[in-house]
Amino acid sequence: MKIGRYTVTPIQFASFRLDGGCMFGSVPKNLWSKGIPADSENCIPLVCRSLVLQDGSRTFLIDVGIGDKWSEKQRAIYGIDLNSELQDGYKPSTVTDVILTHLHFDHAGGISYRDTAGALRLRYPSATVHLQAANWQQAQNPTPKDRASYLAENIDPLKEAKLMLCNGVVEIAPDIVVHRVDGHTPGQQWIEIRGDAAPLFFATDLIPTSHHLPLAFHMGYDVCAETLLKEKLHFLERAVAENALVVFQHDAATEAARVGINERGQFGVREKVPLSS
Ligand SMILES: [Zn+2]
Repeated sequence: MKIGRYTVTPIQFASFRLDGGCMFGSVPKNLWSKGIPADSENCIPLVCRSLVLQDGSRTFLIDVGIGDKWSEKQRAIYGIDLNSELQDGYKPSTVTDVILTHLHFDHAGGISYRDTAGALRLRYPSATVHLQAANWQQAQNPTPKDRASYLAENIDPLKEAKLMLCNGVVEIAPDIVVHRVDGHTPGQQWIEIRGDAAPLFFATDLIPTSHHLPLAFHMGYDVCAETLLKEKLHFLERAVAENALVVFQHDAATEAARVGINERGQFGVREKVPLSS
């Protein structure tokens, strides 16, 4: 798919699962489970979806998946199934820029790996890594609320990377604009790719799946619900007004969609759009 100057290719690094209750916060199960049924352990299926953006000179990778530094026990708990057949066009050595939406393990786990001696290594050693300064700070001093999501094995190796820290709304490369949002975790950033007709919005954990489009459907993991709701409303109003293509990072069934307001007055999917087309 082409968005403006960029060829956009989705990559599904892995599938995994998380507790459905945690994923929908204060929304009762009899509401959320209609859209996304839970398994026998109350978990729902999720994926780690990334995007590759290429313009002929640079190759950007938005988020790097959950990574492979997991024990057998952790793989079972999270149901981690790594994708061994990654799409064409993806070779770690060709990535010039990594954009990390935030450093939670299901977004940044693939930034490092263990070599045969067990030492941590950067997966993209020559890439520039773009991140909000506030998230870099948060990751090194997490609160009790999201400490379990920031793992030292993903944070420490980044001290050796070419880190490009930014703050707020920044055009980090031509037609790639990052937007800081703090409700999910301080210094998260969603990504806007400007297009000719309509932009692409990579929503990250502001709206992790299409089932999280209704305003009140947000995660129990969010550190500040009130902030998140304001940020989400702003995002969705823009998405509707600009006919943006919204990409859902964790949705196993719906890669992306145009969004609208349904007959109940809620935000929802207007039209699913497969990214591979
Ligand atoms: Zn997150």
